[in-house]
Amino acid sequence: MTNSAASHLLPVFARVDLAFERGEGCYLVATNGERYLDFTSGVAVNALGHAHPALVAALQAQATKLWHMSNLFKSPDGERLAARLCEQSKFADFVFFCNSGAEALECVIKVVRKHHAAKGHGERYRMITFEGAFHGRTLATLAATGSEKYLEGFGPPLDGFDQVPHGDLEAVKQQIGPHTAGILIEPIQGEGGVRSAPPAFYRALRGLCDEHGLLLAFDEVQTGMGRTGELFAHRRFGVTPDVMSLAKALGGGFPVGACLATANAAAGMTPGSHGSTFGGNPLAIAAANAVLDVMLEPGFLDHVQKMSLLLKQKLAAVIDRHGDVVSEVRGEGLLIGVKAVVPSTDLVAALRHEKLLTVGAGENVVRFLPPLIVTEAEIEQSVASLERACAALSAGNLTRAAGP
Ligand SMILES: *Cc1c(COP(=O)(O)O)cnc(C)c1O
Repeated sequence: MTNSAASHLLPVFARVDLAFERGEGCYLVATNGERYLDFTSGVAVNALGHAHPALVAALQAQATKLWHMSNLFKSPDGERLAARLCEQSKFADFVFFCNSGAEALECVIKVVRKHHAAKGHGERYRMITFEGAFHGRTLATLAATGSEKYLEGFGPPLDGFDQVPHGDLEAVKQQIGPHTAGILIEPIQGEGGVRSAPPAFYRALRGLCDEHGLLLAFDEVQTGMGRTGELFAHRRFGVTPDVMSLAKALGGGFPVGACLATANAAAGMTPGSHGSTFGGNPLAIAAANAVLDVMLEPGFLDHVQKMSLLLKQKLAAVIDRHGDVVSEVRGEGLLIGVKAVVPSTDLVAALRHEKLLTVGAGENVVRFLPPLIVTEAEIEQSVASLERACAALSAGNLTRAAGP
């Protein structure tokens, strides 16, 4: 054993020196007893907060019955979840269950490639993706992500992805060629810095796909499951994709991902063409069915939109007062980004000092991702924390500026 460091966890994460032992709704309780308001939601995962009674009950009930069952046999609860997701999606006919966002994207990519192969056009295997995208950390999804800093040192990236500037329709048109199979895009770039493009851009992509026989794939791993105030973010665009990935909030904290596809898109997916040992695991399916039960209750998404409006208004007021620290609010629903003027890592640390947990993103943005069950009082508390953090950072800057 050569590892002399204190930790035996592979050091791929820059972890904060803070650990939590339990969660209650929007709060996390640290091992030292301190309470934090959790506006990370495990990076858009704990949409119903921590220890939601309906999720706890569903998982406890399933835990006494059946933990795992292979896909050699039928899955009545998986059938039910798939049927509900298809109905809600208003486009999909089939669902493949997997265990993470990256795996959902792997399935998306395979569905798109196999679709064309099954129609006799195996030469169509390339997908157009966008700068600033994030699709995961497997070798294929990294290639789709296209970020130099994540790809470096891992050998030649998987071939088949052509990246164009985000929101640039002309660049997309230029890129379409005889090998193009589809277009892959997030309705809002989450990791990339809560970056949006106008709904007309997505409608234009749909038009281009229809015109050229391409498949349109939406990566809703972060935006899906109520995060933007709609069950799926693309509902705001007035067009549907052919293929869509879900994960993060789908299991409310239990690992589960999904790839949804139309029958036409999935034309090449036949027995043996894809698989997963754990995909559609009974515990994961029970958690996801319970999440959907809560999210489909009348008023759930209205609440998200109401809290979104409140949070955005209050954040805008803080920006008015502290333009030297924060400069812009972006995003939809409760996928909110605050663009920092100071280094975003400093703002995240200052907020943590004020007992508010947030998460950074590209373009020097700090993401506010509260559980979707967040209350008005909790929103007010978060903004008060931001106010104090801004005041502290301004004071720090002044001291620094006045110093030697
Ligand atoms: C988080 C994320 C992924 C990757 O999900 P993992 O579960 O970490 O593999 C893919 N796409 C988007 C848009 C994401 O936000």
